[in-house]
Amino acid sequence: MSPYPARAVIDLGAISDNVRALDDRSGAAQVMAVVKADAYGHGLVPSALAALAGGATWLGVAQITEALALRAAGVTAPVLTWLYAPGAPLAEVVTVGVDVSVAAGWAAHEVVAAARAAGVPARVHVKVDTGLGRGGVMPADLEELLEVLMAAQAEGLCVVVGVWSHLAWADAPAHPTVLQQAAVFDEACRTVERAGARLEVRHLANSAATLTDPAMHYDLVRPGISVFGLSPVPELGGPADFGLRPAMRLEADLALVKDVPAGHGISYGHDYVTPAATRVGLVPLGYADGIPRHASGTRERWGGPVQVGGRRLGVAGRVCMDQVVLDLGADAPERAGDTVVLFGDGTDGGPTAHDWADVVGTISYEIVTRVGARVPRTHVGAVAP
Ligand SMILES: *Cc1c(COP(=O)(O)O)cnc(C)c1O
Repeated sequence: MSPYPARAVIDLGAISDNVRALDDRSGAAQVMAVVKADAYGHGLVPSALAALAGGATWLGVAQITEALALRAAGVTAPVLTWLYAPGAPLAEVVTVGVDVSVAAGWAAHEVVAAARAAGVPARVHVKVDTGLGRGGVMPADLEELLEVLMAAQAEGLCVVVGVWSHLAWADAPAHPTVLQQAAVFDEACRTVERAGARLEVRHLANSAATLTDPAMHYDLVRPGISVFGLSPVPELGGPADFGLRPAMRLEADLALVKDVPAGHGISYGHDYVTPAATRVGLVPLGYADGIPRHASGTRERWGGPVQVGGRRLGVAGRVCMDQVVLDLGADAPERAGDTVVLFGDGTDGGPTAHDWADVVGTISYEIVTRVGARVPRTHVGAVAP
């Protein structure tokens, strides 16, 4: 018996295979596997190693702590980190050879100061807001930022190696903003090169652009969700349509199975009432584990889908902090300890993270990244050395 009654089983072979498929799709461009947010909930270090085994040559993370964790685990591949506030431990980042995104004057000054303190030049990727309206320096402020960076480069304190940006509407490949952003991006790359940078990598594409828009590939693509086998554009195609396989299976062992009479209210508020005498099963996963409370079931409609034996059931009544209830049906064969699957790769007809996303009106990204920290990750499948 497992010491914890639920687990996220991560197929590392699927991650390697997905990266291989993305590498095939991205032609000459290199692949930066984005492993932020604990590798979208899949476990940072094992997932990063599986991605590298599949052919990724770069890793991308939002937070500095994530980048440092990769280095602490012995990962030597190029890593880019891009989200920090003033006072961040940038000297540590520079010392361990992690590339840093810079999008503001204060950040440029802090990165240069960090390089001076570390005695190692900082490798900088200039992030440009080409139209997402989120991170990135506005094109109008790019020249001023470059003055700081190029002066530091002349002093040997930094090397501007990359220009990058992020798309607002990559999930709608023909969207006019994509072409507009690419045009602004091209102009920004020219500006940076004119200022004296010798660029190693220009990068713009997330999963959606990697899979659907070769014109956005540039030198490096930055897929995240597709590395983990989920589709960034479910309305255009599921994982299999893009040669991907979902890597995470969320499962739990029933903690209780019991018979209840007809008309028995189930869970807080009795939003579900058994229509007939039946057998119910208690699943030891709740909203503290990332099961969305909006996936609660009602009298009219079961909530989030769960595979039990060969049957597709749904959450009966409200999702609680630690548990949900299933109406297994009268004389159901299940016993306490039997394993049920909340989502997996879907190949056996079972539910997927995409199905859960549909139930609660969100995206699969949120379903996998929100799986709670107390749920153990069990990694299976070989990572080729
Ligand atoms: C998260 C992220 C990605 C990966 O996006 P996906 O849609 O998961 O492929 C790429 N670039 C940046 C800047 C990101 O924040």
